[in-house]
Amino acid sequence: MICFPLKTETLPPATHTNCFVVGRDNFVVIDAAARDDSERQKLFVLIDSFIAKDFVCRAIIVSHQHEDHFGAETVLQKRLRGKFDLEIPVAAHRLTAESLRGKVKIGEFLAGGEVFQLNDGNRKSFELKVLYTPGHTRGHLAFYDEAFGFLLSSENVVGTGSVLIALPEGNMKDYLASLERLKNLRNRVFCVARTARRFLMRGVKSKVTSRIDSKEKGKF
Ligand SMILES: [Zn+2]
Repeated sequence: MICFPLKTETLPPATHTNCFVVGRDNFVVIDAAARDDSERQKLFVLIDSFIAKDFVCRAIIVSHQHEDHFGAETVLQKRLRGKFDLEIPVAAHRLTAESLRGKVKIGEFLAGGEVFQLNDGNRKSFELKVLYTPGHTRGHLAFYDEAFGFLLSSENVVGTGSVLIALPEGNMKDYLASLERLKNLRNRVFCVARTARRFLMRGVKSKVTSRIDSKEKGKF
């Protein structure tokens, strides 16, 4: 898995959103969020190098509808079509697709429960499971690789700043239920959407527990 921080207009003090390229021979791209052309080009160079090695892109995924989580996926899709004659779907939850209508054309819906069969650098296959985790937004998705223990939380838990739960999209009850579910996963490493220095966070259970506690107490 490659964490590829992209400069975005995210919530300060964070300055970047973590885009994740998961897998090698078979891979997915999650949250290709860059708007700036030079930022996009850095990501495209990486993806081009994968395609040049005959690695297969399964999907370009948008975890949720917020502006700091999309921006380059349609350009990437067009680029892969024009340069390599590949037709790669842009995927998201149906509710995210509804919210992004007119901005991003979502061609594949993920409801949660889907499994992407991917390969690591040693051609060992692993499964990336899609988790439906509403609360931050109605259509929020996270991604879990049980074999290696990676949980790509998107904005359920962030490394820098705080998670906004705001109407009409946010729902605190759903958010807490999603956190509770994540807390009980057998994950070893937590991969967050925004962070100042590192994207891997250990001690997931305590992190999520403290997040649940603070939200229940009304602290944001
Ligand atoms: Zn968000």
